[in-house]
Amino acid sequence: MTKTLVENCFSLDTKRIKNDLGKFRCGRENVEGMIRDNLLEKELRVNYWFEEDSLLLSANGGEPQRVLLYNHPLTFGARTYFVCECGRNAGKLYLTSPNGHFKCRKCHGLIYEINTINKHSPQGKFFYKMNRMIKLTNKSEAMKKIFYKGRYTKAFLRNLKMLARAGFSEKVEDAKMLLKSIWA
Ligand SMILES: [Zn+2]
Repeated sequence: MTKTLVENCFSLDTKRIKNDLGKFRCGRENVEGMIRDNLLEKELRVNYWFEEDSLLLSANGGEPQRVLLYNHPLTFGARTYFVCECGRNAGKLYLTSPNGHFKCRKCHGLIYEINTINKHSPQGKFFYKMNRMIKLTNKSEAMKKIFYKGRYTKAFLRNLKMLARAGFSEKVEDAKMLLKSIWA
């Protein structure tokens, strides 16, 4: 059986709806939003809105799916999870086809692309590095704050460490040189 890759699915992160959920909980009416993405090389449009303790999701104008939201209290504030139909709390729900259901990774039986390759073969090694590089590059673009009070931020340093581990020492060296030249 071929497994579906996480990378080939649409994923909805609770962070994506956080702001709108906040507005809804503050009593704002008709809080709704839309996410545009691609799924199976076709355009995907996910409309969402809120009702009581649930999120309603409709893919490409289809029948809405109701997803219960669970608030996990933390010392400061709370973290919201989706409650998948299996009962698990999930930070992300996935859609494998536009007329499918939003479910957690386990329910869909999804695997990460990186886990499908043999890391010990030469091609595998190369692919593994490329895959990590692509992910890290995407991440560093998303990281707005590189400096804080004249130093690299923790998030950036973590990223550098991962780069070094994946074998991209050049990029790490560059970053060190850059910091030296700026704060020299
Ligand atoms: Zn599930």
